[in-house]
Amino acid sequence: MSVIVVGAGPTGLMLAGDLAEAGIEVKILEKRAEESNLTRAFALHARTLELFDMRGIADEIVEQGFQVPEVRPVLGTRELVLDLRHPESRFPYVLTVQQARTEALLQRRAERLGVPILRGAEVTGLDQDEGGVTLTVRTAEGEHTERASYAVGADGAHSAVRARLGVGFSGHSYDTHIILADVRLEQDLPRAVNPFMGADGVALLPPYGDGWFRATVWDRTRQDVPIDRPVGLEELNDSLGRITDGQLTVAETRWSTRFLSERRQADRYRVGRVLLAGDAAHVHSPMGAMGMNTGIQDAANLAWKLVALEQGWAPSWLLDTYESERHPVGRSTLRLTDAILRIAVAPAPIRAIRPFVAPRMLRIRKVSEGVRRLLSGIGVHYDRPEPVEDTVSVGQRVDDLSLVSAGAPTRLYELVDPARFTLIDTTADGRAAKAAEPWADRIQALHVRGELPEGADVLLMRPDGYVAWSGERPSAAQTRTALSEWTGTP
Ligand SMILES: Cc1cc2nc3c(=O)[nH]c(=O)nc-3n(C[C@H](O)[C@H](O)[C@H](O)COP(=O)(O)OP(=O)(O)OC[C@H]3O[C@@H](n4cnc5c(N)ncnc54)[C@H](O)[C@@H]3O)c2cc1C
Repeated sequence: MSVIVVGAGPTGLMLAGDLAEAGIEVKILEKRAEESNLTRAFALHARTLELFDMRGIADEIVEQGFQVPEVRPVLGTRELVLDLRHPESRFPYVLTVQQARTEALLQRRAERLGVPILRGAEVTGLDQDEGGVTLTVRTAEGEHTERASYAVGADGAHSAVRARLGVGFSGHSYDTHIILADVRLEQDLPRAVNPFMGADGVALLPPYGDGWFRATVWDRTRQDVPIDRPVGLEELNDSLGRITDGQLTVAETRWSTRFLSERRQADRYRVGRVLLAGDAAHVHSPMGAMGMNTGIQDAANLAWKLVALEQGWAPSWLLDTYESERHPVGRSTLRLTDAILRIAVAPAPIRAIRPFVAPRMLRIRKVSEGVRRLLSGIGVHYDRPEPVEDTVSVGQRVDDLSLVSAGAPTRLYELVDPARFTLIDTTADGRAAKAAEPWADRIQALHVRGELPEGADVLLMRPDGYVAWSGERPSAAQTRTALSEWTGTP
């Protein structure tokens, strides 16, 4: 086996799907015997939808979700607006959709691509040597071992893989647990993520679009309630009533739970041939709905690097970039979600000035733009790996460019093959595309018409949608050098 993925959550399913799409032999080991139908994460942000778009599965989930174009924080009598109509994306909103549906989508894709998912298979041990990784697996039939060239721990917050590696999970738990519930309200709310911030805490109420809302309630006065006590309608109404100043009443709930939110990050994302991704690598408060999205984006970043290793063309520095690129993204996600939470549940002196300061802050374009781009994942970009040439836009997200291919209008994400790099050559003679022909197994070359970032008419896009290299009328020799820096010799 080439790669074993531990955990069939959204991170593991995305990763295994990408590996299989590139023809890599991959298997998922999953502890749960049954498929999950837990609600948990409720939103997909624009960058995740863009990654789905490149894999041809975005429209399927968009149909099942509800498009929410803004966040409307309510601070007492003041209402603010954070616009999520991302001008740079085909997905100008946050999509509310239950995690189970996102998982089902990714599972269908993985199964279509032939990924075996072994359920009721718990990883209990891990050893690695120069040639590969051996996992001890417990099933109903007893214990056995499985071996692969690489293993990825996508096994969630309490990751057994992380524990076996001895990697620290630094951070802390928050004091107050969160109540999560799917609720029907007696009042109507705007088509927005609706955070209400009161003296006793915060309640976040994004709509599912069918009359139901996801309530995420952080009530500081309920800190001592045992975490395993069921959540009652009366308790929910008491908390919501105080936090929203009597503006909201819950009529009905269909699911609820309490959970203790943590802010923790794995000290390392890679030890030898074993990598960590998703909640196994980072956990944080659900304010911002970024957990699952960050995990799916970890998977997209890691998959093609493992493909390169398995196919034998990876530059020596490539796998190290998984940690050097994704650890900072995890850290900034922890910081942002922590800041949102601290503002939402601020102590009295800050609460007093919050209604005056917050609107001013959001009116500063740089602040609102920064938050919007961080939340949506659109602002994620990566440093240039030291060994590669420094060219225009290296490490930046590539827009879904409008292109003309073979005389017909199209867009880049429709043409992308997520198993390969994409070379976009907009020069008249298509010299770069021709130069890329010997790399056809790992680079899809497109000779098209379209506008690239200023200063470039040829662009090499990584399989996860970021600029690897760009040039302005580069010679065939310059193109070949750039291609071999990233993808080795043909
Ligand atoms: C109660 C709750 C509410 C949440 N609410 C939100 C929210 O509102 N918004 C948001 O963005 N995020 C939320 N999250 C976080 C979100 O659900 C996670 O970020 C997301 O599920 C991470 O996906 P993952 O695939 O990395 O991990 P997981 O979804 O945790 O999947 C890990 C998988 O690994 C399996 N596994 C574990 N150990 C082993 C083992 N030893 N061997 C084999 N398999 C194993 C597990 O059974 C599981 O299926 C919430 C999480 C919880 C717990």
